[in-house]
Amino acid sequence: MKTYLPIIGLEIHVELRTKSKMFCGCPADHFGKEPNTQTCPVCLGLPGALPVPNQQAIIWTLMIGQAFNATLNLESKFDRKHYFYPDLPKGYQISQYDEPLCSGGVVTLPEGVISLTRIHLEEDTGKLQHTTLNGQPVSLVDFNRSGVPLVEIVSEPQIHSAATAKTYAQTIRQIIHFLGVSDCDMEKGSMRLEANISLMSINPGSKPQTDPGFIRLPQYKVEVKNINSFRFLEKAINAEIQRQTAILDRGQLPRQETRGFTEVTGTTKSQRSKEAAKDYRYFPEPDIPPLKFTPSQFKTLIPQLPLMPQAYLDLFIKTYDLRPDYAQTLTASPKLAAKSLAAFILAQKQGLDPAALANLMINQKAITVKLSPSALVNLLQSKIKTSQPQSKTTTLMPLVREVLKQNPDLVTKYHQGKVSVIGALIGAVKKLSPSPVDPQTVQQLLTQALAQK
Ligand SMILES: [Zn+2]
Repeated sequence: MKTYLPIIGLEIHVELRTKSKMFCGCPADHFGKEPNTQTCPVCLGLPGALPVPNQQAIIWTLMIGQAFNATLNLESKFDRKHYFYPDLPKGYQISQYDEPLCSGGVVTLPEGVISLTRIHLEEDTGKLQHTTLNGQPVSLVDFNRSGVPLVEIVSEPQIHSAATAKTYAQTIRQIIHFLGVSDCDMEKGSMRLEANISLMSINPGSKPQTDPGFIRLPQYKVEVKNINSFRFLEKAINAEIQRQTAILDRGQLPRQETRGFTEVTGTTKSQRSKEAAKDYRYFPEPDIPPLKFTPSQFKTLIPQLPLMPQAYLDLFIKTYDLRPDYAQTLTASPKLAAKSLAAFILAQKQGLDPAALANLMINQKAITVKLSPSALVNLLQSKIKTSQPQSKTTTLMPLVREVLKQNPDLVTKYHQGKVSVIGALIGAVKKLSPSPVDPQTVQQLLTQALAQK
């Protein structure tokens, strides 16, 4: 029995939520619209129509590059990628080949750092709808999506498990969501996942060499498409690992091909043999001049990045003392994270404990969604008031006494006039208490107990 190391790279497409399409003035918001109502000669690929790049889409792609610490290229260009499909009326897609807007970059995961190959900008294709018309099976084409700005984020083949692939994709979605440049809705297709999977034979018991500089990639790779949820991504990769393992165990090499994931069976099915780059006959788009920037143009064009999920997490855990899992929950969306931060700042101003407010927000999610930060702080205040008599006499005072007993040096300092030590004493009570406490109440009790000493 051989052992195999999965070699996985992901290609993630996100549609940008610009007002207009990538190369024409048609609205980019195509979801749920009457078919073929948002089209023009450019996005229908009619002869003679000229594409004009969307500046907003270019800036947002650079913003994404910046968020992932990619190199923003001073020179880049659009290329034509040729292939035939009914949803691509021009016979080619305007994409970027050897000179993308952004090169490199990293995605930091708890499992380690995954390097990015590139981040480029292209146009989306139309959409096929397979249905029946007068009892006949037909395929209809809707060109509303044709030409919508699409960003592709390509990772290096540095992912070695389905679980890491899922975390990677979720992290990418969270960061782009926080940038506010795409709604990243997998159900609506505004975020799409593709995985390239192959298996590398390794000697059992030996530590696999996964360093990108040294790794020798397998001679084939299988691309899996049609993955429209994170759960299916994990399933599709595991199914593919199983299928390829069986082939390799028989002493054969899996075919280089594109396969589609079928949700019902949880397996992948061959679609076509995989194209190589040369099959696409890439060449520079003659109707769009190359893009040239200076470093100072990048500075003025690219807006300052908003607070990213990791920055919120650091603030919530380090500054506001939140439990890590609660901090994670409250950074699930940019809206919730911003609201939580505003509420914590307000709570602290009013002498309330942000961590206690976080508990309230997590335990009463339905209320949290509706209330404003100040209403949340008021709610916490009213809860503390009603529970105070009990917590003061029965639970908090013994904790306060215990803390004073454990910190005789701080007590001495306090009596010597160093009143600021009360902060450390409040912290100690907080740590000792099994449930969140209101710092103001603790301070009152501490002052009271210290006066008796
Ligand atoms: Zn158009």
